[in-house]
Amino acid sequence: MSHFSSRPDSVRDPRPVDLAGRPDLAAALDAVNRDLAATLPEAGPMRLMWMPSDDEDLPDQYHAALPDGRRHGGMEGPDAAGLAEAAQETVQAVLWQVWPVCLEHRTGVHADVGADERAVWWCRAGAGHELCEVGELAQTLPGKQRRALRRKERRREG
Ligand SMILES: [Zn+2]
Repeated sequence: MSHFSSRPDSVRDPRPVDLAGRPDLAAALDAVNRDLAATLPEAGPMRLMWMPSDDEDLPDQYHAALPDGRRHGGMEGPDAAGLAEAAQETVQAVLWQVWPVCLEHRTGVHADVGADERAVWWCRAGAGHELCEVGELAQTLPGKQRRALRRKERRREG
């Protein structure tokens, strides 16, 4: 590895993660974007960006960025739950939106890792409960909204 005292600024710009080499992250990003399309379409689709560290003692940072590039927070070594959390952070900090929401308890939920290692949205209300797997948020919508969403998807596909 070469050691430069400083790098040109352009090198410090975040760049898209090469998802072809990370099918796990590609699937995780798809899942988050499915949830955004279902419940907060103006925020998506998000892109997964990474910012190389300029200090070899510090890890690279990953970000979930809005289509216009705005983002907030960062994570190291992203995984499905981490990516969902990063997307949520960006939505809350940039768009000032609580997302996603448990409609039953009318409160924001949090990305977590389920018992079988799936990324889930977890509602902390009461004893706490799993709202759904990340990517399945559409299933939690009332029937009327869900049907409207399906009609919209069909129009997009057709
Ligand atoms: Zn709940």
